[in-house]
Amino acid sequence: MDAPYARIEQLEPGVVRLLAHNPSAFTFTGTQSYIVGTDCVAIIDPGPALPEHIEALVQAIDGRQVAAILCTHTHRDHSPAARPLADRTGAPVIGCAPLALEAVGPRADASFDGDYRPDHVLHDGEWLDVGGTPITAVATPGHTSNHLCFAWRDTLFTGDHVMGWSTTVVVPPDGDMAAYMASLDKLRQRQDRIYYPAHGPAVINPQQYTRHLLGHRMHRERQILKLIGGGAIEIPDIVASAYPGLDPRLTAAAGGSVLAHLLDLERRGLVERQGDAWTAA
Ligand SMILES: [Zn+2]
Repeated sequence: MDAPYARIEQLEPGVVRLLAHNPSAFTFTGTQSYIVGTDCVAIIDPGPALPEHIEALVQAIDGRQVAAILCTHTHRDHSPAARPLADRTGAPVIGCAPLALEAVGPRADASFDGDYRPDHVLHDGEWLDVGGTPITAVATPGHTSNHLCFAWRDTLFTGDHVMGWSTTVVVPPDGDMAAYMASLDKLRQRQDRIYYPAHGPAVINPQQYTRHLLGHRMHRERQILKLIGGGAIEIPDIVASAYPGLDPRLTAAAGGSVLAHLLDLERRGLVERQGDAWTAA
């Protein structure tokens, strides 16, 4: 894929983007790491532990003090470079919590970075100082239960919560559609000027885009309810009807998102499950 791998992209004063070479059906061109600040910086989403990506980050940091290495969540395309980069820079790993696996059952799957060990966890509204400017955690569960966005000045680093190239995958058991919708609504009520996501281009009309995403999910929910209204139906048949022309590599993810909608509808008493089939309640 033709994309600016290992190239330093200065997006605005104090914001540099560096693309890791991990393109896929889920990551688009790859994971975008951000270097935020001027004399003292923070790294947001260090990305996969690819040696050339870590080297490119160290080059871009260029000897400046690193206040923190921040992870929005612990998918394997986001957090594995945190520890090697901490070893290179001496900076602490701060940000999202590791998944609390034992407390809530088997939430993790192969896409999770089980080795993630933060030095300090940020909770909603907590902030840290980066060269005199705060970076504030904005808890946005949904894509994963531990997802955080990071606010800096009037920008928001949105990780996988809001992306510039595709809707976000929400797959149970860790992904939760009701939480995701609530987190979208939380962003809609903020006044950020621009979103910098981990995948895809920057979002320059945040409020409008967030409203569009909320509308898209509500449309999907109505679509699923309508299909179920026609009689008992299983998830693969819902996917086939609701996602025409879907990239076959994304079938499982689409099934996960449909399941996330169904579990939310079930909690709200609108649908029922009978084996693998779903019916109206
Ligand atoms: Zn993710």
